[in-house]
Amino acid sequence: MTSANDRLFARAQAVIPGGVDSPVRAYGSVGGTPRFITSAAGAHVVDADGRRYVDLVASWGPALLGHAHPEVVEAVVAAARRGLSFGAPTPAEAELAELIAARVPGVEKVRLVSTGTEATMTAIRLARGATGRDLLVKFAGHYHGHSDGLLAAAGSGLATFALPGSAGVPEAIAAQTLVVPYNDTAALEAVFAAHPGRIAAVITEAAAANMGVVPPAPGFSALLAEVCRREGALLISDEVLTGFRAAEGGYAQVLRDAGEPVVADLVTFGKVIGGGMPVAAVGGRADVMDLLAPTGPVYQAGTLSGNPVAVAAGLATLRCADADVYARLATASDALSAAVGAALRAAGVPHVVQRAGTLFSVFFGEAVTGGVPDYATAQRQDAEAYRRFFHAMLDAGVSLPPSAYEAWFVTAAHDAAVLDEVFAALPAAAAAAAG
Ligand SMILES: *Cc1c(COP(=O)(O)O)cnc(C)c1O
Repeated sequence: MTSANDRLFARAQAVIPGGVDSPVRAYGSVGGTPRFITSAAGAHVVDADGRRYVDLVASWGPALLGHAHPEVVEAVVAAARRGLSFGAPTPAEAELAELIAARVPGVEKVRLVSTGTEATMTAIRLARGATGRDLLVKFAGHYHGHSDGLLAAAGSGLATFALPGSAGVPEAIAAQTLVVPYNDTAALEAVFAAHPGRIAAVITEAAAANMGVVPPAPGFSALLAEVCRREGALLISDEVLTGFRAAEGGYAQVLRDAGEPVVADLVTFGKVIGGGMPVAAVGGRADVMDLLAPTGPVYQAGTLSGNPVAVAAGLATLRCADADVYARLATASDALSAAVGAALRAAGVPHVVQRAGTLFSVFFGEAVTGGVPDYATAQRQDAEAYRRFFHAMLDAGVSLPPSAYEAWFVTAAHDAAVLDEVFAALPAAAAAAAG
């Protein structure tokens, strides 16, 4: 008997490329049929066959409070009743912008957009407009969305499928992006030395989390800010994934708490600030942000930017995201990462667990046990072992990210009872990983 998931996947593949609207969802690197989700609540998702799973994807980050949180759903329904979109400013937009600015030092003004891709695209255009320079530096394995200039050595789906960038990106555009290894001070200095006065910005994930979780080495983020200042380039900190998730104030807060305050010129947000709806943002120095149209010459616009229903979801999410929520995320991350490590050790599976605030991921394989500081090392992980582990967990009712290159996401709804469901699945999955 074929499952509903198999039937839905076959139907989708006939009319949607690969059957999915975003590549990693297709289970390409782990194999098998993606689960078609029909509903979700708290820490669980339910698929088309009626099977329930503990969810460690959390919509790739946005579901900070857990799925279908009652206050968020209420806010969305109430906003929808007042109208879906007006193409005019609405009262809630400034409130969301204020909430974001209040939590992140250096963010004085905010422009709302709909996706993280738009946010980073806008940040880069702003940096080029502000500096009058063209070149952009990014780090290998960092993912900043799918715009032309940012697919060079990107993480996420490109890492999952080992794609060397993307077809369809003009040579001339790719040439504007210089890629350097992460956590490599000498390479950073060298790229500035090779292109004096020509680099508009360095864009970095605040902590890399799209090649697995790879935090900046102690001192690296502060040094990066210092080099940018010295060279007259802007620092763009991409907190689309880490913002309001790694900690209350994003990864910038994790750094600050570690005695390494870093204030970026521009910061991008997404995922959590929409609470599951399409909201993202670029924020930063008022003088740079005011270069945006209509106050300045850098053009950016969006029919659905600041959409009232989406903003209602984001506002409700951030209002609920108090210290207690972050304490619960930290507790769940601590407990889960420790339990996974213990189960893999017990089964003799070489691995390393890496953390960035409440984010973590697990790299499998002998080649990575010394730690993963960069993309070259991440690519030496044992993706086959992860594939076996993934499917054993899925069979036991735990839905992990379907790629070895992604963070594992908990929510505030991952309480002790939910984690016990995950712990019960670990020994068999660790044995499967051992092969
Ligand atoms: C997800 C992500 C993006 C892209 O956001 P989309 O909303 O998928 O366009 C950009 N940067 C980082 C760090 C991300 O994790």
